[in-house]
Amino acid sequence: MAEAAAGQQPSWSEHLDLLIRARTPILWIRTIEEERAERLLKEAARRLGGRSLLRWDFIGGLEGLPNRGGEAARQPMQALQALDSLPPGDAAILLLTDFHRYCEDPGVARRLRNLSRQLPSRPQTLVITAARWELPGDLEECVTLLDLPLPSQQEIRTLLGAIATASSQTLPPSTLEALSQGCSGLTEQRVRQIAARALARRGRLDHDDLEEVLEEKRQAIARSELLEYCPTQATPADIGGLEVLKTWLDQRHQAFSEEARSYGLPLPRGVLLVGPQGTGKSLTARAVAHSWSMPLLRLDVGRLFSGLVGASEARTREMIQRAEAMAPCVLWIDEIDKGFAFGESGRGRGDGGTSQRVLASLLTWMAEKTSAVFVVATANGIDRLPPELLRKGRFDEIFLLELPSAGERRAILDLHLRRRRPRHTIPLEVVVGRTEGFSGAELEQTVVEAMHLAFAEQREFGENDLIQAAAQLVPLSRTAREELESLQRWAYGGRARAASVHSDAMSPGNEP
Ligand code: ADP
Repeated sequence: MAEAAAGQQPSWSEHLDLLIRARTPILWIRTIEEERAERLLKEAARRLGGRSLLRWDFIGGLEGLPNRGGEAARQPMQALQALDSLPPGDAAILLLTDFHRYCEDPGVARRLRNLSRQLPSRPQTLVITAARWELPGDLEECVTLLDLPLPSQQEIRTLLGAIATASSQTLPPSTLEALSQGCSGLTEQRVRQIAARALARRGRLDHDDLEEVLEEKRQAIARSELLEYCPTQATPADIGGLEVLKTWLDQRHQAFSEEARSYGLPLPRGVLLVGPQGTGKSLTARAVAHSWSMPLLRLDVGRLFSGLVGASEARTREMIQRAEAMAPCVLWIDEIDKGFAFGESGRGRGDGGTSQRVLASLLTWMAEKTSAVFVVATANGIDRLPPELLRKGRFDEIFLLELPSAGERRAILDLHLRRRRPRHTIPLEVVVGRTEGFSGAELEQTVVEAMHLAFAEQREFGENDLIQAAAQLVPLSRTAREELESLQRWAYGGRARAASVHSDAMSPGNEP
């Protein structure tokens, strides 16, 4: 399956083979995964007709030369001469670790320049691995830079499969798929550590290990100033109503699988959830991330858009890179409408164009994105949203979350009651009838308030307390009627899909 895609674009290993076969004299592999780079080089040496692989590090010296193990320890200059001692026709790769530290030395730099001219006439390649690309300017043109990306999902799958087999375990395909998807964005060493810990603890790998994987990722994101990692336990079962949205999300989840790739489906881009406050938009973002076993990254929209003029695009790029390194993940752009103030009193123009530039970078990325970053953007209204954002192709779909119908109110009330009283038998008909216009959040508040009423009188709460609590609460919809109606008019115009079954009249096919 993954091989089909590899057929179009050479894999990293194929690219490496090509560079070695083309007698590239000096290769600089930029990576934090030294061991993995060495293993990949070993495999390349084997594939390319049994080249020998020599290795040097400062402490251990040379390895791989018969009877000369340990030579050139603490002698970087001498290490560079290792290839000279081989017969010129012998095919070999010399791997130097940490060598960036010695490239400033005039003797080493000269020797490298000479080698870059001599090596193309011999089947020998010098490879330097380092976490950074750090060379004196005049050496740059002699050295070819090759970035080693983090392991692909296919590589992680193979690795985890091998670890499971080595511990006499057969992983069901669905577990292997979920684990390898969850581990992407981590180094091979981290994946091994997680697997080793799981095996030591329980003697096997399974779905539970995903929690630990997500924790690893959380620590990686903690350093970002625009992104916040949100731990979440919410699942779709915590959402009352919104059946259309839930079904749609379930379909999109399946589109992340390797099977969907080989079927030819594109990776899902994301969804925009629009609706009044408290209708479950944030809850949905949380439930998506948790039930898809992906980390949830919340973007601080205020900070992103209020960046200093000029620095804003760079910050956007950095944010995107961080999110992509965590892929597959859910990028939650919470209250995206807060970032824009176009049209209203000209604030959009007053910020020196920052919000437009940030928006442009964001939109370009969303349109061209090929990474498994699923964007969930939420907005309370659409008045302030720039039309470009709502255009087709940015999001896979725009959903309008309306105030819950009677059936949904019953489901939401029941859900929150069961969370507090798993075996409750409170009849809900009357309360449902008296909570028209309540949002999900207000229904939850009604339950909590009813409990307060009863608790104050030291008794168990019941239907009457719920009815009383509902009567005391003034739902936001009463004050925000106009805003709500304009939102509905917009959505009924075919711009958005209804998240619930009850208002399906404006669903797809109704575009003007
Ligand atoms: P929004 O993001 O739309 O403003 P939230 O998702 O933050 O609303 O809702 C706040 C809280 O209200 C949720 O954490 C949840 O407890 C409750 N809630 C809202 N909508 C629902 C729903 N459809 N089902 C169950 N609970 C809901």
